[in-house]
Amino acid sequence: LVSKLPNVGTTIFTVMSKLATETGAINLSQGFPGFDCSPELVSLVDHYMRKGFNQYAPMTGVPALREALAQKTLDLYGIAYDPDTEVTVTSGATEAIFAAITAVVRHSRDAGPDEVLVFEPAYDSYVPAIELNGGIPVYVTLTPPDYTIDWQAVSQKITDKTRLILVNTPHNPTGHVWTLDDLNQLANLVHNRDIWIVSDEVYEHILFDGRTHHSLMTHPVLQERTFIIGSFGKTFHITGWKVGYCLAPADLTTEFRKIHQYLTFSTVTPIQYALADYLKEPDHYRQLPDFYQRKRDLFLAGLRGSRFTIRPTEGSFFQTVSYANITDEPDYDLAVRLTKEIGVASIPVSVFYHQKNDYKMIRFCFAKDDAVLQEAAERLSQL
Ligand code: PMP
Ligand code: GLN
Repeated sequence: LVSKLPNVGTTIFTVMSKLATETGAINLSQGFPGFDCSPELVSLVDHYMRKGFNQYAPMTGVPALREALAQKTLDLYGIAYDPDTEVTVTSGATEAIFAAITAVVRHSRDAGPDEVLVFEPAYDSYVPAIELNGGIPVYVTLTPPDYTIDWQAVSQKITDKTRLILVNTPHNPTGHVWTLDDLNQLANLVHNRDIWIVSDEVYEHILFDGRTHHSLMTHPVLQERTFIIGSFGKTFHITGWKVGYCLAPADLTTEFRKIHQYLTFSTVTPIQYALADYLKEPDHYRQLPDFYQRKRDLFLAGLRGSRFTIRPTEGSFFQTVSYANITDEPDYDLAVRLTKEIGVASIPVSVFYHQKNDYKMIRFCFAKDDAVLQEAAERLSQL
């Protein structure tokens, strides 16, 4: 069989988590909480399972959850999405991202392949989804230490073939957060053009130092052309449950659902009912910035005496650090060595880039218990 994705191997998350398990290292590599979700949420799922909510959910998601999502979005951002025609529940953000890209990107006989603008470093699922749909990724490279967007460079990459732009704020792996100016700059570039946007906002509730999440839905020019992607995995510490969603205007949602219908058809039923109840209490997500700010600050305090160069992350539960002062090794080699020798697993940031580079950055996930973070920081400070 000729591979459709010849350059795809095992993801770095699987590789590093496996190495951490084999070596008994503290696993700050793959992004998942090292603590459990709320027992109340587990009881709700148990309740709905016992009540017999165990068969297929509606293709679009259970009405109660779509309504709760629309209400939360209205309360938080002041934007009204119609739960019937503009909200779709998916099997994780990964499915939603794939469905949205598939709904837009094509290789047409007349016009050839669509171009898709990707800011790199980029989350690993974006580019395979573009390529499987016959599109061509066009990269805009963001560089340390601040990863800010050069809008002049972006405008130079937009052509008549540009059909989609992928946005991720707060950003994995860098933690970079979009400003209002970024929203305005993007709006100026796409205004009156046939360009759509997928905005991956799975870390919408994890921002630090008083920052505000500027969802793309809050800009009218962007809202009308954007698939907003969210995930309960990040917000309620349930990455293993794989429930996400897509918010998009009705015409976009119609196309999105045509794909979703044949990718998975529907998403796990009892969990959707449980999430609908749980989401109604705003404290369940409003406490997240403080919860994670404490963890970020604890980890950074532990690293204060280390030789890493650190810019406190702006959002997400990831902290990238530069090791340029410590060693010349490629980041992958260092990540493997740190796992084996000092027992702390991380992710080399170069894997999120398409073009080879030597920025000397590694990423740590600080969604872990305090004692684990302190121990990891102590070990890293010995370098
Ligand atoms: N987008 C980003 C930026 C992520 O970091 C992740 C998961 N870590 C996802 C999407 C996938 O989310 P899910 O687990 O809900 O599929
Ligand atoms: N998104 C998580 C991370 O960045 C990992 C998800 C996965 O393992 N595919 O670490």
